Amino acid sequence: MQNKITIVGGGIGGMATALALGRSGHSALLLERAPSFSEVGAGIQLGPNVVRILQAWGQMDRLKAVAYFPQALRARNAISGEVVGEKRLGQDTVQRYQAPYATIARADMHSLLVAAVAQTGGIDMHLGHEVTAVTQDEKSVHLQVQRTETGSTDVVDTKLLVGADGVWSRVRAQVMRSGGPRQTGHLAYRAMVPMASLPENLRTQEVTAWMGPDFHVVQYPVRGGEMLNVVAIVHGDPPGDLTSWDHGANAAEIQLLLSRAHPSLRDLIYAIGHWRLWALCDRPPMRSSGEHGSGRVVLVGDAAHPMRPYLAQGACMAIEDAAALARHLTEKGSSTVPKALAAFAAERWPRNARVQARSIRNGEIYHAKGLMQVARDMALRLAAPRLMDVPWLYRA
Ligand SMILES: Cc1cc2nc3c(=O)[nH]c(=O)nc-3n(C[C@H](O)[C@H](O)[C@H](O)COP(=O)(O)OP(=O)(O)OC[C@H]3O[C@@H](n4cnc5c(N)ncnc54)[C@H](O)[C@@H]3O)c2cc1C
Repeated sequence: MQNKITIVGGGIGGMATALALGRSGHSALLLERAPSFSEVGAGIQLGPNVVRILQAWGQMDRLKAVAYFPQALRARNAISGEVVGEKRLGQDTVQRYQAPYATIARADMHSLLVAAVAQTGGIDMHLGHEVTAVTQDEKSVHLQVQRTETGSTDVVDTKLLVGADGVWSRVRAQVMRSGGPRQTGHLAYRAMVPMASLPENLRTQEVTAWMGPDFHVVQYPVRGGEMLNVVAIVHGDPPGDLTSWDHGANAAEIQLLLSRAHPSLRDLIYAIGHWRLWALCDRPPMRSSGEHGSGRVVLVGDAAHPMRPYLAQGACMAIEDAAALARHLTEKGSSTVPKALAAFAAERWPRNARVQARSIRNGEIYHAKGLMQVARDMALRLAAPRLMDVPWLYRA
């Protein structure tokens, strides 16, 4: 099989890359190891930086049909319950950043991209195809691809390989020969529940971050406000196999872990019967453009820069990578694939590194205790709208 561009991985990063390339007139092969798309029930937040890209890609109608556009971001002390800070979103965000802040179920975000790719055309998508080996020479990249249903192996030669295969990226391991990601020592319990199933006093329309010593909880509506997404981050040892995306979780575990939380938060946690558990892994912030790939292989999304979810930007950075990659491959100035990839990497790595570093810092702030917690709450009481905004990230 010969192909000019091949994308490995059909998650949010891979599908966004497929869409960006398709929109720029490129054709590509996309290989995804899963036999079908089944994104698990959890939500993600989309900053205006990435909603602006979806706008430019003509996806606002699709987004409006499935997302939620919260009016405020609220910070609460998870023990006292005090609202220590609030920042307006809604029209304030549109005026400042030319796009709204959105919250969306992962499955809805993924389906949006899949539908847009199908409509745009140019992408030959193969599910149940796992890339097992990658090598490259000056002219091509050579892939071994195993069909998961039959076990048979194909060989694919391609001029450009996009590794969008997530935090445990095999493309990265084989091409960069770098070690694996690191454990953060943090666990994420995630749940999505119908808003109508919750008592009236627990239904909320904002994004709320409850900050407690050594834990935090974030809640926000998705699916046009019909569902509430809740993620609780605690410190702890990972259960079983780290490479497995998520595990079932026992509701009693998280109830016990948050038993000292403010009653309003505790009531919410106790009202949810079904949780999934993620062991969070990341890499240190990128140190050079070399971490975005090598030669004719480029990494996007979590394969390149897995991060802690405390700035809510992992998927957003994957989508920004996709838009930038398509632009560099289409620009006239880059005469060869390696030159275009080098220009892409030089543009993207400092921003991705900054977002990774800020995500780590946010985790420390959310989990602060003692004097640091007192200082955090005081600072938020005085200057929340400024402290909770991230202009360098959201601005075009
Ligand atoms: C608790 C939590 C909360 C989060 N909240 C937010 C948020 O609010 N906002 C935000 O922007 N981000 C958030 N994120 C981050 C976001 O989910 C990820 O950054 C994003 O999903 C990464 O997408 P990806 O496509 O790079 O990787 P993945 O989603 O991991 O996709 C990789 C794909 O590659 C496939 N694959 C892997 N290996 C192979 C192979 N060898 N051959 C073929 N296919 C392969 C996999 O099956 C998968 O489909 C959160 C993450 C967590 C854990």
